[in-house]
Amino acid sequence: MYPFKLHFNPKNLHLNHTIKFLILITLISILLLSIVSYHFSLKESFQEKASSVKNDYVKNVLENYAIKNLKSFSYNICGYSVEQKPIYYCKIGNGKENIFIIGGLHGDEPKGTYACLEFIETLLKNNSLTEKYTFTIIPLCNPDGAQNYKRRNSNNIDLNRDFYKISQPETKAIINLFQKHKPIILIDVHESLGSMPLIIYANNSKSLNLATYISLQSNIPAILAANVGQSANYAEKENIYGIILELPCLSWKYGNGTIIIWNIICYFNMYLLQKF
Ligand SMILES: [Zn+2]
Repeated sequence: MYPFKLHFNPKNLHLNHTIKFLILITLISILLLSIVSYHFSLKESFQEKASSVKNDYVKNVLENYAIKNLKSFSYNICGYSVEQKPIYYCKIGNGKENIFIIGGLHGDEPKGTYACLEFIETLLKNNSLTEKYTFTIIPLCNPDGAQNYKRRNSNNIDLNRDFYKISQPETKAIINLFQKHKPIILIDVHESLGSMPLIIYANNSKSLNLATYISLQSNIPAILAANVGQSANYAEKENIYGIILELPCLSWKYGNGTIIIWNIICYFNMYLLQKF
């Protein structure tokens, strides 16, 4: 009964365990490698998408939205950069109150611009917010910086430190458009090194209360804006709600950040409903 004996040979049993163990290790390694390579390919695809967000891309996307949504959407030019690149903005919605959103103040933070463009698409597909509010959105405020993947504009000025002086053509274009629409909130979308989003709020009681509310609802940390001439400082001066939103550069798990903007506006809407 040789086969029977072989079956119960302790040596053979040991070999079976070793083989099983090796197979298990191989399978786990294959699984881990697949997960890691999938994550990296996702991250690369977001970075690739984000790095292609330059002024011509913005224009093409807005043009495309305008062709598809003739009545509910319009886009135009609100000014020109130092290098005479047009600064595009768009309007969506029929609401009495205006929500003003800007992105791409820093040319090396494409995620903010990309999130703004995709947020516009979300607004066009879902009218739950656009019936109540009119959105004015500048997806790329610093087209020269974006062209060269540089934080500052072509005069080497950090545009998010120019909201006291308003010395640059880009900040002038933003402020002119802002003053035309008299928004109730300014949201300035940036991108930061990190894995969590961050809310930076204007130094007025309105923004403090709003940021506290959103932070509690969303678990996004909130900090006070430094007094250095940022967009939030301008909102503070105008006594409206003001928020700088930092989208985490390493957060492929948040996608490109559009959902974070959407949630913040929904929380803002809830906050106003609760307040009045
Ligand atoms: Zn920034």
